Amino acid sequence: MTPKLPYVEIAPNTYELDEFDCGSVFVLVGEEKAMVIDTGTGVGDLYGTIREITDKPLVLVLTHAHMDHVGAVGWFDEYYMSKEDVGKYGEFSNMEGRKGYAGFIAARSGKKYPYDPDVDIRPWPENANPKFIPLFEGQAFDLGGRIVTAMACPGHTPGSMVFIDSATRILFAGDACNCNILYGSLPGDPRFISVEKSGEAMKAVYALRGKLWDKCYNGHHDFREFGEPLDDEVMPFAIELCENLVSGNYEVKTVPGMFPGSPLTPSGKDKDGLWERKDLYGKQSEAVQGIFEEEAGVPARDGRNVL
Ligand SMILES: [Zn+2]
Repeated sequence: MTPKLPYVEIAPNTYELDEFDCGSVFVLVGEEKAMVIDTGTGVGDLYGTIREITDKPLVLVLTHAHMDHVGAVGWFDEYYMSKEDVGKYGEFSNMEGRKGYAGFIAARSGKKYPYDPDVDIRPWPENANPKFIPLFEGQAFDLGGRIVTAMACPGHTPGSMVFIDSATRILFAGDACNCNILYGSLPGDPRFISVEKSGEAMKAVYALRGKLWDKCYNGHHDFREFGEPLDDEVMPFAIELCENLVSGNYEVKTVPGMFPGSPLTPSGKDKDGLWERKDLYGKQSEAVQGIFEEEAGVPARDGRNVL
């Protein structure tokens, strides 16, 4: 497997690894242990790359259970994750899903990456048996000389967790502050979190800015440069957005979706009072995508236009 996962030291003993634009993995090296935050989709030799950075015992924590954060868990012995995400997002090792996602990212970026999907996106090792350990709000990990504390930030998923590092005063936000914070579920779905709850959770995290953290790195570098923090305005803007949605102070606009053929559509209650989300996947998607490109003036396949 390719060991060529790029990485950069973003602060002393603190690294961002780029999984070929699929996602970011962070490694925080303490005096005794090193923490790994998320594992990406499982493209190339993540474990080997981490071992280039540190030989300390590893503590793996997951911000949430989405495939592009848990795809390489099988190369680790154990992982900490909120129990609120357990069983809600399918098998972590799912080959089809991992290949599909990496393929989509490659198609979207149009870049050539130094990996071969057939070789570098492979099934977990045969003896893989990573042990789940529940992660709790307020749980603190002493890595030696630096303490990393978990904080619940439900929204993107019910079990989304963010991490605050005492040494660098960086907030590692996973996908809790992304363009798709309210991703994909409606009341009745076990993955559903209301806009109210999501906004309040983010507000509680943001209230610690300047007290416990100064900079935020989220789990993808689509909206920031690789190695650079998220712009200071993004989180207050996302909180304001949630507040406006709750108060009714908004206008519905349809914008291109994150994935090919999946423009976002307004959701609402149908004639029987049941929630529905108009699904534009499949047959209609090509025609619809054309319309969206024309209206928005941007290619719908580029998820960067969603924000
Ligand atoms: Zn996610």
